[in-house]
Amino acid sequence: MVSFYDKPRFDKQAAVVLLTKDQVQKKACPFPLKPVCEALQAAVDASQFEGGKGEMFPAVIAGKVVILVGLGKSADVSLTSVRIVLRRAFLSNPLKKLSTVEVILHEDHADIAHAAVEAAIIGTYAWKKYITRKKDDQTVDIKFYYIVTRFTKEASLAAVIADGVNFSRDLVNDNADTVTPEFLEKTVRDLIKNNKTVSLEVLGRKELSAKGLGLLLAVNQGSNKKPRVVIAKYSGAGKGSPFTAFVGKGLTFDCGGLNLKPSGSIETMREDMSGAAAVIGTLKTVLALKPKKNLIFAFGAVENAIDANSYKPGDVFKGYSGKTVEIGNTDAEGRLVLADVLSYVIKNYSPAKVIDLATLTGACVVALGHDYAGVLGNNDDLIMKILASAHATDDRAWQLPMYPEYKDAIKSKIADIKNISNVRGAAGTVCGAEFLHQFVGETPWVHLDIAGTAFVDGDSHWYYGHGATGYGVRLCTNYLLNN
Ligand SMILES: [Zn+2]
Repeated sequence: MVSFYDKPRFDKQAAVVLLTKDQVQKKACPFPLKPVCEALQAAVDASQFEGGKGEMFPAVIAGKVVILVGLGKSADVSLTSVRIVLRRAFLSNPLKKLSTVEVILHEDHADIAHAAVEAAIIGTYAWKKYITRKKDDQTVDIKFYYIVTRFTKEASLAAVIADGVNFSRDLVNDNADTVTPEFLEKTVRDLIKNNKTVSLEVLGRKELSAKGLGLLLAVNQGSNKKPRVVIAKYSGAGKGSPFTAFVGKGLTFDCGGLNLKPSGSIETMREDMSGAAAVIGTLKTVLALKPKKNLIFAFGAVENAIDANSYKPGDVFKGYSGKTVEIGNTDAEGRLVLADVLSYVIKNYSPAKVIDLATLTGACVVALGHDYAGVLGNNDDLIMKILASAHATDDRAWQLPMYPEYKDAIKSKIADIKNISNVRGAAGTVCGAEFLHQFVGETPWVHLDIAGTAFVDGDSHWYYGHGATGYGVRLCTNYLLNN
């Protein structure tokens, strides 16, 4: 729980106090709080605290734990560093077993309050459903965060979005045999229950087959899970207002199919539905914020598994668009699922813009690591707006090029196109996006390759613990609220 009020009260079990190096050097206590100023003075006098980035000085004053937290030189302070150092403070030993903490910012600004909320909600999230041991390093005992800020409106908005982020993370982190396509459908149904602004279309195996979403069905052939395409239509604006569609890849587990993934690559593949999870997390946020926008939230959820029915490399399948695809590799399955969902949503819902999110290519992790998603698309204006939202929210993204010649790389001798590039080991992310490009036509479209950003193995150097990051919820929410 995160709450806000505008003046420090110093009445909680603990206080975390952010300070820049400049503030410490000036020796002028920036807070109207005598005990905290005395602690700061004592720490500085004893040369125990200089306010360097990440420096922490714990003290006990009047029976309360006070942690002075350094941010470094004010010129170097970023919102990311605020999130990082605050998260470390919340996880630190002096705050163990305490449940209430007041957070005093080095400067009261809407963006800084926003970052502090994210440090509390996103930074202290840990996936513990299956941990039975009592002691755990990542466990935070704090239940109530009180952030001192005048910007309560912005901070409350940040809290709603951060809840959407963690909702998305829960979906990614749980077992693949729990979070099945049917489970994701039920999750959406539960979210929109009794909500008159949302209508729902769900395609099961029968409808998918009758309508000809043959690429998606091919991927699911080896699985005993029932495939689903889920499309939630949120009508928050007037009837004439255009719709923006968010489309997610929802591979609830991807073993690679007959082109089986090796050890080292397969273990975290329940995360291959992170695009769908981002779409669902954004839907949850939208239902709470009720923006006056027309929006579509869609995903294709299937499992890429192996049995005698698995789809086979070299075979050709026809998708909803009518195009035929040669399967060059059964592990390039996400683009097949997305191809059908994108063409279905575009044909039947006529969105003005489409943004897809997909853990699509390992090549994107090679190119941009775990910190930046790849952004590709057919519309410069939309790309720029997505990059602006990425920058504003810290769901980082970086544009990669698309150019016409790349459609030659996915030519097939036996079908219209092929699901992998003929140029081995080159521009895998661009080729994956070019494949999707073949199914969006002229509709303004942006593809976010989130293969690197959706999941971190171990504690990240940022402000996420192990597992799903909920990437995309902040970016999509920012985009839809501002466009
Ligand atoms: Zn795959």
